[in-house]
Amino acid sequence: MKNGICPRCNHNQVYSSSKLRAETGSASSIPLSYIRSISLDNYVCTNCGYVESYVSEPEMLSRIADIWPQVEPPQGGSYKPVSKNHS
Ligand SMILES: [Zn+2]
Repeated sequence: MKNGICPRCNHNQVYSSSKLRAETGSASSIPLSYIRSISLDNYVCTNCGYVESYVSEPEMLSRIADIWPQVEPPQGGSYKPVSKNHS
């Protein structure tokens, strides 16, 4: 999606709100904790209406990993987890 191609319909009619966020300081956001929220950049396909949202500040990704509970992938089946290197 960030490369300008819609993953749903393969059209190149993708528009991003990242410039709007940078200029106005306002954006959609999701709560990180009770006191903090995370701003998002939205990518919209104007052909099919598909929307993807990305955390705009990469450093917030590690905060999310610290604070939010991880969604556990299903055990068994064909999914093979990457070997964990917990030292
Ligand atoms: Zn599309």
